[in-house]
Amino acid sequence: MLADLGEDARALAGGHSLIPMMKLRLATPTHLVDLGGVADLKFIRADGGDIVIGAMTTQHDLIASDLLSSKVPILRETALAVADPQVRYVGTLGGNVANGDPGNDMPAVMLCLGAVYEVAGKAAGRRIAARDFYQGAYFTALEPGEILTAVRIPVPAAGHGYAYEKLKRKIGDYATAAAAVVLTMHGGKVASCSIGLTNVAETPLWAEEAAKILVGSALDPATVKKAVAAAEAITSPAADARGPARYRTKMAGVMLARALARARERAAA
Ligand SMILES: Cc1cc2nc3c(=O)[nH]c(=O)nc-3n(C[C@H](O)[C@H](O)[C@H](O)COP(=O)(O)OP(=O)(O)OC[C@H]3O[C@@H](n4cnc5c(N)ncnc54)[C@H](O)[C@@H]3O)c2cc1C
Repeated sequence: MLADLGEDARALAGGHSLIPMMKLRLATPTHLVDLGGVADLKFIRADGGDIVIGAMTTQHDLIASDLLSSKVPILRETALAVADPQVRYVGTLGGNVANGDPGNDMPAVMLCLGAVYEVAGKAAGRRIAARDFYQGAYFTALEPGEILTAVRIPVPAAGHGYAYEKLKRKIGDYATAAAAVVLTMHGGKVASCSIGLTNVAETPLWAEEAAKILVGSALDPATVKKAVAAAEAITSPAADARGPARYRTKMAGVMLARALARARERAAA
């Protein structure tokens, strides 16, 4: 239906981003295609070394899943930082990552985890790496008529450390800045590290250089400082009610330092 109705038709998932946009007349779709009745889009399952999550899985479902809590616990921690329980009961993972809103929390976590998005349209389905998906604020690699059907996440190594640190003004607010970290330690040194940043650019950011600086280190203060500087250097936040751009860049650095410390505490040595 989406392919037939053309570019001005929109998929409706939980409606917690789309309906507010429509109320503000920032979105004026000619048709809404409700994905709520498509039972096949709602699941969480293990598939080999991956966890696959259907697009219509709610943020509350992520929090309640024992499989996710044991295999990819950063998802639960991040879902708990999204909005408030009312939004989380209805808002979906698919809507959160497909929307392209740089303020949404899940996309940076998906970059951090190396997730892959499964996409379907009239033509054959395809897979897009989350790291290639975000092109600008509200611009993604989705073509008109395509929907995201599932998110595929490679399970991080057993014993990994993780943290999602989010600075917000109040419960229910989008991030002033936030950082996601997944790392593994070996012999007291960082063996692998991945970092995502939320709401400090037009797209979520994968801080590849900052993570590289940390690999091989014991997360000593001097190396963490260098990595934080590298992460801050790739940010380009807007100045808005959450603060001036420079403040938000600095807060991204503070969130990263805190996330690294907490991930370190949780990682097996
Ligand atoms: C008060 C409030 C506070 C919030 N705070 C936060 C927050 O702190 N952090 C955060 O991350 N989010 C926040 N949100 C947003 C919330 O998490 C949304 O639910 C989520 O971003 C969008 O999911 P949805 O299911 O509601 O999607 P919808 O609103 O239905 O859709 C959003 C967009 O994605 C498209 N879409 C939806 N599903 C698909 C799909 N499967 N394939 C392709 N396109 C699709 C729609 O066409 C639409 O353009 C907040 C929302 C509210 C109302």
